[in-house]
Amino acid sequence: MRKKEKIGENEFFSIWLLLAGFGAITTLVLIMCISSAGKIPDNVGRVLTEEEQEAVVGRNSALAEYVYLSPNADFPREGTITKITIHHMAGDLELEEVGKRFSDRDRRTSANYAIDSSGKVALYVEEANRAWTSSSKENDSQAVTIEVANDEVGGQWHVGDESYEKLIELCTDICRRNGIEELRYTGDESGNLTLHKMFADTECPGPYLESRVEEIVQTVNQKLKQEE
Ligand SMILES: [Zn+2]
Repeated sequence: MRKKEKIGENEFFSIWLLLAGFGAITTLVLIMCISSAGKIPDNVGRVLTEEEQEAVVGRNSALAEYVYLSPNADFPREGTITKITIHHMAGDLELEEVGKRFSDRDRRTSANYAIDSSGKVALYVEEANRAWTSSSKENDSQAVTIEVANDEVGGQWHVGDESYEKLIELCTDICRRNGIEELRYTGDESGNLTLHKMFADTECPGPYLESRVEEIVQTVNQKLKQEE
């Protein structure tokens, strides 16, 4: 009797150990899955090969001539793209310099795109991911964000014609590829063309761009209709 009892105990112990082992492995796999979901992709924060850049641009706007992917983003974004948010750089920065700032993790800032004062477009956060631009997680989860260079520092924060024209082109392209049929500017966050100043105490995108928002919306919508 005694012997039998002992074997029973040992068996019970082995089964318990086995179950504990399985439990540990399951937990480990779960942890790995969860951490990989928010993991920064390996093409972020470094110079891409020509092939890599081509693949990235292929998933985003073909207007992007410069690519330097920022780690300051949610990978992937939670919402679907239904909005565009316009910002200004508050300066006339080179796209490389903007990329450098966005690659600094301490700054915790980025944008999907930027347009420099010559009208050249850069991509920093792929559209599938949420850029940290507008001081609003809710807005940026739904928006593609664009920084536009100024050719005047302070004052009206003027934007040159080349940048302005490229902004129209980029907005049209974003709408077309993401199924946004029409842009609406309501002056508040209920529209699908939003401005940084709606979410934070900032002048961004500056008086000049703000004065042209209605015109931007009209021009983009005309172009979207023409392409139908
Ligand atoms: Zn802004």
